[in-house]
Amino acid sequence: MKKSGVIAIDGPAGSGKSTVAKEVAHRLGFLYIDTGAMYRALTLKAINKGMDFSDNEALVELSKNTDIELKESGDSLKVYLDKKDVSHKIRSMEVTTKVKLLASLKDVRENMVKLQRKLGSLSSGAVLEGRDIGTVVFPNAAYKFYLDASFQTRVERRFRELKEKGFSISPEEIEADVRNRDASDMTRKVAPLKKAEDAKVIDTTNMTVEEVAGKILEIVKKWHTSFLALF
Ligand code: C5P
Repeated sequence: MKKSGVIAIDGPAGSGKSTVAKEVAHRLGFLYIDTGAMYRALTLKAINKGMDFSDNEALVELSKNTDIELKESGDSLKVYLDKKDVSHKIRSMEVTTKVKLLASLKDVRENMVKLQRKLGSLSSGAVLEGRDIGTVVFPNAAYKFYLDASFQTRVERRFRELKEKGFSISPEEIEADVRNRDASDMTRKVAPLKKAEDAKVIDTTNMTVEEVAGKILEIVKKWHTSFLALF
């Protein structure tokens, strides 16, 4: 199968995917695509509309009629839902706990995957991070990485991250969220979180963002030089 200009980074919550993917994309001049932000934006819309999260048909319909855009702005990624900036709101605990209900619906995922493939193929190089990038969205990605870290480290990272963003949440709440999302993301029937057979696993427990990004860049550098030669 022909390889695409995509670097796939998958892994559970708090494994360091977002920060590392952003850094790798920045260093390569690639587009950075946070696929979790797309599921979060859709969840926020369903909450705002007061929708019933057990009404699968309505949620699928919503996913067909929603405009989600990702725009890089300096060091951060802005997320637009129907043209409105929702970058901060999608990180709330309400969205975080409900997102799994939407993310486990096959037809919702199909619509999200379509958009992710379109975005990933439009640019000459992209780093996509999520749960199913290497297994479903871009099975022919040029490089696949699966980031992981100890449960305690992942909880601590999520806690710090949310605190920095101004959310006041207890460590216990974070621990319960990470545990629940791990279980749901790994055991759902459609596109569960798992390592792609050809993905390289990186345990980020005792590594800094720079170290993880450096390791990934070292691996892709050779490929990247020959890839750029094609343009
Ligand atoms: O990456 P993030 O933690 O923001 O993702 C939020 C949730 O979105 C995940 O817990 C998962 O349920 C869902 N998700 C997914 N597939 C992706 C990315 C995220 O199911 N590719």
